[in-house]
Amino acid sequence: MSVPYLLNDAKGHIPASERIPVIARPFVSERAKRTLDIVERFVEEECIPADTVYLQQIKEAGDAAKNTVEGRFGSHPSVIEDLKKRARELGLWNMFLPKNHFKEGAGFSNLEYGLMAEYLGKSMTASEACNCAAPDTGNMEVFAKYGTEEQKQRWLTPLLNGEIRSAFLMTEPQVASSDATNIELSIRREGNEWVLNGQKWWSSGAGDVRCQIYIVMGRSSPDNPNKYRQQSVILVPADTPGITIHRMLSVLGFDDAPHGHGHISFDNVRVPLNSMVLGEGRGFEVVQGRLGPGRIHHAMRSIGSAEKALEWFLARLNDPAKKPFGELLSKHGIMLERVARSRIEIDTARLSVLNAAIKIDQGDARTALKEIAEVKVQVPSMLMDVLDRAMQAYGGAGVSQDTPLAYQTALGRTMRIVDGPDEVHLLQLGRNENKRGDALRTRIQAQRTRAVELLARYGMKEQDPLQLNRVSGKGSKL
Ligand SMILES: Cc1cc2nc3c(=O)[nH]c(=O)nc-3n(C[C@H](O)[C@H](O)[C@H](O)COP(=O)(O)OP(=O)(O)OC[C@H]3O[C@@H](n4cnc5c(N)ncnc54)[C@H](O)[C@@H]3O)c2cc1C
Repeated sequence: MSVPYLLNDAKGHIPASERIPVIARPFVSERAKRTLDIVERFVEEECIPADTVYLQQIKEAGDAAKNTVEGRFGSHPSVIEDLKKRARELGLWNMFLPKNHFKEGAGFSNLEYGLMAEYLGKSMTASEACNCAAPDTGNMEVFAKYGTEEQKQRWLTPLLNGEIRSAFLMTEPQVASSDATNIELSIRREGNEWVLNGQKWWSSGAGDVRCQIYIVMGRSSPDNPNKYRQQSVILVPADTPGITIHRMLSVLGFDDAPHGHGHISFDNVRVPLNSMVLGEGRGFEVVQGRLGPGRIHHAMRSIGSAEKALEWFLARLNDPAKKPFGELLSKHGIMLERVARSRIEIDTARLSVLNAAIKIDQGDARTALKEIAEVKVQVPSMLMDVLDRAMQAYGGAGVSQDTPLAYQTALGRTMRIVDGPDEVHLLQLGRNENKRGDALRTRIQAQRTRAVELLARYGMKEQDPLQLNRVSGKGSKL
């Protein structure tokens, strides 16, 4: 028997595995399909209800500490640990590490995890419950791909076990960080140590009491003539002397406690020489290796967020207590058009993301750069449109804390900025597409020449087919 909140069709519940888009089905294993259905139930039945408990536990921790930052950020909601335990019982752990590159994960492809990530994106707690939350996912990939055995043992193992959390520190307040060649936190060698000085901000997860390791990008080789070889990535334990978290940044008014986004300074922070990842001057390689599949994860969670917005939208349209001008909102045609547009846009965006995931699976993130950039731009824009329509249908409630839509909007909006703003991806896509321009001009010209030759063979001369230059009354039967 179907459970009401699992209904996703007028006739009842169709499991997630049976709703996999046709185009992706041949690439999904039976095991992944079974797991997908478990993920769906876990999220709908356990995580979404637990989101309310999670928010209340953070609030109560804040109240107990008289609403200080330490209160909201000093707490670790116990409901998360209960969900983690449950997720492990269900076999839902570390699904994000793709099987063709890492032995440490749960053995799924990027496509298979992408399908699961959509459901995780419907809840605030689900990703962390399954140890699939950013920024740890990308950070674990860094350790798994580039870490030494020692680094893996010290940091990757506890991260894979969900015992600690981590942060990735690239962005700086004083420079335009979407161009990472600008990153200037200084990494200087002194004897057996690296010494770090500078500032970082938007360090997501740094507020979490369990965040023990920072992966930091800085400039170690300012004199290297190749500007892509000046930066390095280095590991810095969060409790190293000289580190100060000055404040936590808000996202459109939300503090994202207990993980948060830190503004941090480094004042003569010293770490041993073996803290460097991959090697001096190889920061760009590490950052690029980290961001590929991570962008797909964000995009798939955003698809889930859009589905959730549509669900709330439909619930409001059919609320018998709210009938503007005597009719359910669903009887007002304009709303159904908005529903239809949302359906089309979500389904189209999902296909693009799955296509990118398949492309990564069949090669690697580098072979799918175009597809990844496309979804990086397409999906957040789609999400904003769907959220906006749902929010509008709720009137005042839509922008308040009484629906999840306001928080989803804040989170969704940041996707147009994080991991490179839209413009950077658009510019890259536009540039690459434009490379065909000259070849296309030549081809079109050749086709025109061939058309004139063909006309001659049929005994004709080229004419304006619309006859727009005809003289009135002459030669036309019209
Ligand atoms: C919620 C959130 C979480 C984040 N988490 C992290 C994190 O964990 N770690 C981390 O290091 N960073 C993080 N960031 C930072 C994020 O990655 C940066 O904000 C982003 O890369 C842009 O850098 P910037 O803010 O310095 O903007 P800038 O580089 O100053 O760019 C400003 C604007 O300029 C425009 N622009 C940039 N390049 C071009 C171009 N080529 N053509 C035309 N216009 C352009 C864009 O509109 C862009 O938004 C996070 C940000 C947010 C909002």
